[in-house]
Amino acid sequence: MAKINKLLVANRGEIALRIMRSAKELGIRTVAVYSEADRLSPHVKFADEAVCLGPPPSSQSYLLGDKIIEVCKDLNVDAIHPGYGFLSENADFSKKVTDAGLIFVGPSPHAIEVMGSKLAAKQAVSQYDIPLVPGTEEAISDIEAAKKKAAEIGYPILIKASAGGGGKGMRIVESEAEFEEQMQRAVSEAKSAFGDGAVFIEKFITSPRHIEIQILGDQQGNTVYLFERECSIQRRHQKVIEEAPSAVVSPEMRKAMGEAAVGVAKACNYYGAGTVEFIVDDKLNFYFLEMNTRLQVEHPVTEMITGKDLVKEQIWVAEGKALSFFQEDLKINGHSLEVRVYAEDPRTNFLPDIGRLITYRRPQGPGIRVDDGFEEGMDIPIYYDPMIAKLITHAETREDAINRMLRAIDDYEITGIQTTLDFCRFALKHEAFTSGNFDTKFVEKYFKPEVLDQSLSKEEEELLAVLAVEFFHSQKGKKTGSVSAAAPTTSGAWRNRLK
Ligand code: ADP
Repeated sequence: MAKINKLLVANRGEIALRIMRSAKELGIRTVAVYSEADRLSPHVKFADEAVCLGPPPSSQSYLLGDKIIEVCKDLNVDAIHPGYGFLSENADFSKKVTDAGLIFVGPSPHAIEVMGSKLAAKQAVSQYDIPLVPGTEEAISDIEAAKKKAAEIGYPILIKASAGGGGKGMRIVESEAEFEEQMQRAVSEAKSAFGDGAVFIEKFITSPRHIEIQILGDQQGNTVYLFERECSIQRRHQKVIEEAPSAVVSPEMRKAMGEAAVGVAKACNYYGAGTVEFIVDDKLNFYFLEMNTRLQVEHPVTEMITGKDLVKEQIWVAEGKALSFFQEDLKINGHSLEVRVYAEDPRTNFLPDIGRLITYRRPQGPGIRVDDGFEEGMDIPIYYDPMIAKLITHAETREDAINRMLRAIDDYEITGIQTTLDFCRFALKHEAFTSGNFDTKFVEKYFKPEVLDQSLSKEEEELLAVLAVEFFHSQKGKKTGSVSAAAPTTSGAWRNRLK
């Protein structure tokens, strides 16, 4: 059995820091890599050793697999943890890592490859009893045959690129009349975007929830599921609020989804931590969508309800150890929520709002966890994903976890840039969210920038009351009674009084 004494984390920001914390607790020495933009980042300071990879763009730094392997050889590193994004789902890289005599903290290149292609994944799981969205399980190029299949499935349907990812490479077709044109477009888009024109057809689920199962497997063939995460609150197909457990999953459904996820993992001899994503329709039928062969951004909510440290488990599995627990040992303890704090302005359709963190104070208290990679005074670089932090709460019940999150959001002090925190406060208070009756369309159904001014923190409410009095006095003596245009609630400018 291999022992990892020194681990290089081929990533940046919050996830690099989060991985290194667990490594340190296991007595493993850590090596950080960084780009010139991240020279002063907390992950660089935290590591025992740190190496600059190059200029800020990822292609010249965090994606330089060969250079990272060289660094490992120079510094006597035993293993590489890729985090998420960057090189984490690159089968060639993981193969090169093992060929260089290093341990890749993740699954085999084979598993990454199979699950990296939507069609290969569907084919791999077909011998297991796993529900798939009705559709074709093979690439389809003949338009007439495709049309026939679409009619059988029933419109609306979705044309998907096999090599697609990140919410890209999908086209909705509402009726047969538009089928041919959309199919031609889908194929040519898939060719130019992914270099692979293979497409397939699926029934379009009109009111979908995104619910995923965390799995963990060892190299001895044991696989367990660590329950579900509900990730339906998304903007631009990207998750922004996650929770565990889901408000709509019953114990029976959880067991069925968990066992299906274990089947998916078995289909590619999976080991390590992985996530099996399902799409759930309004009647709570669930269908396998895809598997992510890495640690997921939202993994902390699973850690909070299971008490397991997923990074430590990944490291032990990579060392060749068998899982130290069985399915029956796992229990759900309480409820956990995560909100992603992005440097984005919800008032401008979530456009990135890059700048300096002039004030940055984290909320504190029992049941609160902040995974972040920045300090006050730092700039958010434009080169990478604009996520500043993940704010996680844990409490006995869903209601308590929501109230704790609302309190934590109020206590989070960030000035200098706009963040998604205001949006998250609005969403957490919304009746659709509190009742559990929501789907991936939450943002388009309920969110308009104006609603943010109706969803204020206590501090903001107090300030508004003060402003209203000031405003009243300033209006006294003026002839016109028309006050609405200048009323403080109609402008975001008053918020700057808090900054
Ligand atoms: P990607 O690899 O691009 O993330 P996925 O297959 O995971 O692609 O799908 C991304 C998102 O698109 C899902 O979370 C879901 O919201 C939506 N989606 C995917 N398949 C369907 C479907 N058959 N019907 C409705 N929505 C879908």
